[in-house]
Amino acid sequence: VRYAERLARTRARMEELGVDVLCCSVGPDLPYLTGYEAMPLERLTMLVVARDEPAVLVVPRLEAPRVEPQPDVFSIEPWDETDDPVDRVATLARGAHTIAIGDQTWARFVLALQERLPSARFTSATEVLGPLRAVKGPDEIERLRAAAEAVDAIAVAMREQRFHGRTELDVQRELNERILEAGHERVNFAIVASGPNAASPHHDAIDRVIEVGDVVLCDFGGTMHRYCSDITRMFVVGEPAPEVRDAYDALCAAQDAAVRAATVGTPCEEVDAVARGVLREAQLADWFVHRTGHGIGLDAHEDPYMVAGNTTPLVAGHAFSVEPGVYLPGRFGLRLEDIVVASDDGPVRLNHAPRDLAIVD
Ligand code: ZN
Ligand code: ZN
Ligand code: ZN
Repeated sequence: VRYAERLARTRARMEELGVDVLCCSVGPDLPYLTGYEAMPLERLTMLVVARDEPAVLVVPRLEAPRVEPQPDVFSIEPWDETDDPVDRVATLARGAHTIAIGDQTWARFVLALQERLPSARFTSATEVLGPLRAVKGPDEIERLRAAAEAVDAIAVAMREQRFHGRTELDVQRELNERILEAGHERVNFAIVASGPNAASPHHDAIDRVIEVGDVVLCDFGGTMHRYCSDITRMFVVGEPAPEVRDAYDALCAAQDAAVRAATVGTPCEEVDAVARGVLREAQLADWFVHRTGHGIGLDAHEDPYMVAGNTTPLVAGHAFSVEPGVYLPGRFGLRLEDIVVASDDGPVRLNHAPRDLAIVD
């Protein structure tokens, strides 16, 4: 990764937006710029990028050994237990009119900085870095592809597994194990929602026993070599009810149309509108209660979002999910999700696991 190049692009964007200092702490902005991921500790880690000064990483001394030095990108300033790191950051940011600060920075530190720098205006670092992080380079797309292939293999393997008589928690445990076995360094989530539970899009698995006729939604992903996977596939124990089959056919058509619409130059909101339009024709749009997709990369959810109101045109390298769903309260829920990359040759799906309703035992 060419961190120096990323930093140069970041500075150009700071200039464009009139941001004097960028502060990145916990979360993916820091590894994007430095390769170093801060543990979400109560101790402050902060990369301070002033527009015309060398970047400085203020880091607890005990964490410093984990930082891989990049002398052409930033210098390292370890602080000791009795030092005040906020004071150090405030000194580095002194005189700044506008400070962009990472979304996941602990409020404690933001409040302390605001107190020390009363004349500065604080904005979100996502304004600076969101659009940069959203456009993936070839190396990043390769990592997303590898992560997608890993969860594809799990989705395929699950088609041969027994669901009947198991609890959601038991299936979730299996998914968690498989995600790690497949080479992810961490599990981000494994939603297993059976029967009426799937009508809640982010249902948290419980001890409900999966019965014959149940539709089971599995939405899972992790982080592999820093990049995220995210896939949703549907399973049904025995023959699906005709209403399930019909709704799923409409959902597949909606997802397919939305993926095909995701060409370079198309506004993100159009991808959402296309999925919604297909579901509207099937009288299911009222039950599609969330946006069509989210960007994916170092973070499981990041720019760009496929949602009404986001007029950002897709550019080559945008990576995002296309995941329409249909949620019928008290009855069942369905979702189908793939990761897609916009390219000059058209939309490219990174997930290839079969998309049909998998009939399982
Ligand atoms: Zn979700
Ligand atoms: Zn998902
Ligand atoms: Zn997703």
